[in-house]
Amino acid sequence: MNIPRLRVKPSRLSLIAVVLSLAFISVALQSQHVPDDTEAQTTTSIARARVALPPATATSALSATPTRIPPTATPETPPLPSRRPAVRMEYIPILMYHYVREVAEELDPMGFRLSVTPERFAEQMEWLHDNDYTPVRLDQLAACLRNTEPCPDRLVALTFDDGYEDSASAALPILKRYRFPATFFIVPAFVDQPGYMSWEQIEQLRDNGMEIGSHTLIHADLTGLSVEAARHEIEASRAFLEERLGVPVRSFCYPAGSYTPLISGMVRQAGYTSAVTASPLTGYNHMYQLARRRVLGGETIAGFPWYMTPLPEQE
Ligand SMILES: [Zn+2]
Repeated sequence: MNIPRLRVKPSRLSLIAVVLSLAFISVALQSQHVPDDTEAQTTTSIARARVALPPATATSALSATPTRIPPTATPETPPLPSRRPAVRMEYIPILMYHYVREVAEELDPMGFRLSVTPERFAEQMEWLHDNDYTPVRLDQLAACLRNTEPCPDRLVALTFDDGYEDSASAALPILKRYRFPATFFIVPAFVDQPGYMSWEQIEQLRDNGMEIGSHTLIHADLTGLSVEAARHEIEASRAFLEERLGVPVRSFCYPAGSYTPLISGMVRQAGYTSAVTASPLTGYNHMYQLARRRVLGGETIAGFPWYMTPLPEQE
C-alpha cells in the first residue's frame, strides 16, 4: 500500500532554520550597529554586524567569471590540508579594506581608520595597474598556493570586510574600471540593514566577477561561542550564501580577526579553501590563517607601495 509522505531534505530544513534565525537577528540588530574589526578590537560575542562586497572581473589567466552552481550538500571529499605544499612566496600582499567613503577624522576617529576615500582608493588601484600588479580573488590565491592554478607574477589580493553599502556604490565602479577582481566578506544578518549592501547589490558584485566570502552569519566572535555554535556560524553561513547567491563560497574571514587552532580547523572541515586573519603577522603557510595588511585611513599614494613589501617581521 502506498502512503503519501511529506519529504523534506535535512539540508533544506537547516536552511529554513537559518533564514528564520536571521530574520530574528535582523530585528535585534536594527537598533545596534557597531563599528567593525580592527586588529586590537575585541568583540562581545554576537551583537555585531558587517557586510562585504564581491570583486570585478579578472584580467589574468585566472578568469573570474562567476560560475553558477547548484547549492552544494556537505562535501564527501576529505578536507583540504591546512598547509600549502611549497613555499614559493615569502610575502603575499593581501590587503584589507572596510569602507570606501569620505569621513571626518575629528567626528569619527575609528571610522576614519577603517575608511579609504573613493579618490584615494582609485589612486591605489591606478598604482597597482601602472605597476603591473595582478589582483586575484582569494579562491584563486588559494588554488595557486596549492599548485592547482598558476600564480601570476606580482599578485595582490584585495579584500573588503562586512558588506558596507559603499562596497557596491564606491568600490565596485573603481574595480570595474581596472577590471580588478576582489573578495567581499558578507554577513548575512547585515544585508539590507542601513549602511550595508542589499542582496541586489551583492548580486551585482557577483555578476561582475567578484568573490563572495563568508564572515559568519552574524559577525560573531567565534572564540566566544561554544564549539557547536561556532561550527554553525562557519557552516551555515556558507550554505546560506551559496543557496542565496548560487555561487560557491570558498573563502572565510574571522570576525574581529579572532580564532583558535580549533576554529581554523573547523573552517577547513567546512569546505572552505582558505581563511584570512586581521593580522599582518600570521604569515602565509597556513591556508586558514593567511595574514592581511589593513590599508590605513588617510594613507597617501606615496605610502601605498609600502603594502607591497614585507614588514620587517616578515623578512
Ligand atoms: Zn568584520
